[in-house]
Amino acid sequence: MPFGVTLQTKREMFFKSDSTASAGGGGGGGGGNPLGPPSTAPPAPPVSAPTSAPPPPPTTTTANPTPTPVTNHVNSNATNNATNNATTNNAPDAKTSVASIKEQLLTTKDKKDHKDEENKESKQAAKPPIKDKTNAKEVFRRQREVEGYVGFANLPNQVYRKAVKKGFEFSLMVVGESGLGKSTMINSMFLSDIYSNEYPGPSHRVKKTVQVETTKVLLKENAVNLMLTVVDTPGFGDAVDNSDCWQPVIDYVESKYEEYLNAESKVNRKSISDNRVHCCLYFIAPSGHGLKSLDIEFMRRLHDKVNIIPVIAKADTLTPEECQHFKKQIINEIHQHKIKIYEFPEEDGDNNKLKQRVPFAVVGSNVTTEVDGKKVRGRKYPWGIVEVENLSHCDFIPLRNLLIRTHMQDLKEVTSSVHYENYRCRKLAGGTTDNKSKSSNKPSCLTRSKNSVASAWNPLALMEEEKKEHSSRMQKMESEMEQVFEMKVKEKMTKLSELEADLQKRNETMRRKLETDMAELEEERERFEKERRAWETANNVTVEELRRRSLESISKEQVDGKDKGKKKKGLF
Ligand code: GDP
Repeated sequence: MPFGVTLQTKREMFFKSDSTASAGGGGGGGGGNPLGPPSTAPPAPPVSAPTSAPPPPPTTTTANPTPTPVTNHVNSNATNNATNNATTNNAPDAKTSVASIKEQLLTTKDKKDHKDEENKESKQAAKPPIKDKTNAKEVFRRQREVEGYVGFANLPNQVYRKAVKKGFEFSLMVVGESGLGKSTMINSMFLSDIYSNEYPGPSHRVKKTVQVETTKVLLKENAVNLMLTVVDTPGFGDAVDNSDCWQPVIDYVESKYEEYLNAESKVNRKSISDNRVHCCLYFIAPSGHGLKSLDIEFMRRLHDKVNIIPVIAKADTLTPEECQHFKKQIINEIHQHKIKIYEFPEEDGDNNKLKQRVPFAVVGSNVTTEVDGKKVRGRKYPWGIVEVENLSHCDFIPLRNLLIRTHMQDLKEVTSSVHYENYRCRKLAGGTTDNKSKSSNKPSCLTRSKNSVASAWNPLALMEEEKKEHSSRMQKMESEMEQVFEMKVKEKMTKLSELEADLQKRNETMRRKLETDMAELEEERERFEKERRAWETANNVTVEELRRRSLESISKEQVDGKDKGKKKKGLF
């Protein structure tokens, strides 16, 4: 491995471990330990840009800007002071540590290599630049430190300011039978009365059929606005026959994707509000007997449309052992039914700890009680108090941290790059938006890989597949048409043969009738001949003779008649 790469890798390892250590130290910057109790300090904004004096130019070659902890006050003076202090305090430390680590890392061989490398570089600098004839080759140069303060270190601040100005949107869906503590959980989570006496939770608005209702609340914390949309499903799982009760939920999720897709295709796409459902908390009843068929069916139908996080409701009704056993049972069933619940982006220590807590066993309460002189949110029982925000009592804190502090952005990204993208591609490919498509090239294959979102799919392969599908459809149509044609021809042939048979039959009957008539006539003729002969014998004269005589007499009469006429004419 060349020196530059080796050193860079080592440096990255060093800074990675350094930043991980600092991130684990508190909740600042949203990178806090998701399992830890909520610190009083909200996430720290990034360091503001130095206005008067730029930070001293870094002297080492490695100074990747390390995140600088600052106070959370919005007061700009305070921030500036904090920034300056942090810069002055941290910069030398960073330099020293970088220098010392560089020393440690540079072995004699490395040093030699380093010198060679520098010599090469200086030689290259002296040479005239090589012209890139093809313009297709990218030139990679070694990492360079700028001399002095240019200002791109301020880029994160620009993003931060823009994001704060724009505000944040998050849609959280809660699904589960009524009475499982969904509204109590939402109130506990955002420390506000999203559901109150004036606007009660879903169980108090139970409908006969499943409805999807949204509640929008603008939450403010340290000048950061969060437009929270809570989507609840009153009536879910409450009917005697719950078949298809997930359909309104699917319709709602897809309608939001459709809305977003339409907004994206408009001319003005500047301010598209994101109402897509970013997360679905699925509440499981604390039965201790695994998942119900409704739970399995719901998750199976929704898992490729929305990020599902399973939650065991009212965990205070289970003993710790029962709860652990119940969790194992649920996870086994989830694997068994190939349900894809929300996956954590990286398999680091914190995420692994979080993963082990899934499904989150939660307790909700809207009342505070006193424990050791401290006011805590909890449920008071004759035998003790269950504290909502106590990590050893339930998983409320990890769940809240995951949703709000550590993984909100990731939930939104997965929604956008996996679930929405699946929907969009299915839609654009002209297919149905259900999950029947099994093709590997179909957009429905978009899944989140272990560390990243696999958002790339092959459009050419998709086209090829569509072509194949089209030709197979055409073939099918052709064979169907042929079948229909054959059937029609067969029908016609049968009809014709029936007609022929009928005609033949009629012909036969007519022929037979004619034959009988002929026979009758022949009989009649014979009888007549017989009678004639008998008459001739009786009268001793033949009919021929009789005819001749009668003709003769007629002609004689005619001649006589003419003579008489002549005579009469002569008289006058
Ligand atoms: P929803 O219909 O799912 O919204 O349920 P609610 O939030 O209205 O809660 C129904 C009932 O359960 C209320 O009496 C709550 O006080 C109670 N409850 C809520 N969360 C918990 C919990 O974690 N444990 C226990 N034991 N009861 C709870």
